[in-house]
Amino acid sequence: MLSKINHIGVAVSSIDEALPFYRDQLGMVFKGREEVAEQKVTVAMLQVGESKIELLEPTSPESPIARFLEKNGPGVHHVAYEVDDIEAAIARLKEQGVRMIDETPRNGAHGTRIAFVHPKSSIGVLTELCQV
Ligand code: ZN
Repeated sequence: MLSKINHIGVAVSSIDEALPFYRDQLGMVFKGREEVAEQKVTVAMLQVGESKIELLEPTSPESPIARFLEKNGPGVHHVAYEVDDIEAAIARLKEQGVRMIDETPRNGAHGTRIAFVHPKSSIGVLTELCQV
């Protein structure tokens, strides 16, 4: 069902402040920045091998990322697994009693379709399914 880790989401208060560490000091390839209005975040993607780091900066105090930063400070926010067929993956998880935040896919950054598993079902790690 899962093919690889597509990306790891990292909550930051400022992409501009975080970017030099990932791009210049760690030497990752910066793939671009995009606002995801639905999620009230700006997203910056950095490639590392087959996977990416997704920096998430809130664009509004009501953003889920703003609430995360308030509670936890900056840090790892979620792990995103790549799937070939997101509807089938959601259906399979639900069949097994897994709670989903998103029972139908929504739009993610860079044209992806995503769905989050409920943290109650994923043992403390916010888990995203991602179809590219
Ligand atoms: Zn993500």
